[in-house]
Amino acid sequence: MEQYAMPIANLIEQLSKLPGIGRKTAQRLAFFILEMDDLEAEKLSQSILNAKEKIRLCSICCDLTDVDPCNMCQDTRRDKSIICVVEGPKDVIAMEKSREYKGDYHVLHGVISPMDNVGPNDIRVKELLARLSDGQVKEVILATNPTVEGEATALYLSKLIKPLGIKVTRIAHGIPVGGDLEYFDEVTLSKAIENRREL
Ligand SMILES: [Zn+2]
Repeated sequence: MEQYAMPIANLIEQLSKLPGIGRKTAQRLAFFILEMDDLEAEKLSQSILNAKEKIRLCSICCDLTDVDPCNMCQDTRRDKSIICVVEGPKDVIAMEKSREYKGDYHVLHGVISPMDNVGPNDIRVKELLARLSDGQVKEVILATNPTVEGEATALYLSKLIKPLGIKVTRIAHGIPVGGDLEYFDEVTLSKAIENRREL
């Protein structure tokens, strides 16, 4: 164990908890932060606190937002008869980049994964079903990732939604199995939306 002064050791420890940050990188970041002006360091720590304090889930689509309902849910130019269901907030950003899709979204915050003890009640399924009860929604696009869990979640949702008389579609696979939606380019994603199929 390195002999760092306690405040430095703490900073390294906290930074190393971030995804993709190993101990070496955490040390590099900690020293970078120590070299920053006081004002810049304060802006950094304040932005973390602000984001944690102001960002919550939209009460309609469950996306991250600082206003409720979120801007997308409030936007009357979007087609409210169609909902695109995605795993996480980053997938909404990715889908928007395709510029192919003009409907609403629903963010599940995960996928059903028995191996990880994640069941339907651990993700935002209940909230999705609540949105389908007033007859306004005519189509649900299941855009979970093409992984085993993403496929299983799509199948589970289609079984719940189809009996409600709502069209259920799945984004097309032109995208590799095991992939992650947020990393595909606009063309791949816009093709995937264009070639979606009914389940
Ligand atoms: Zn929303």
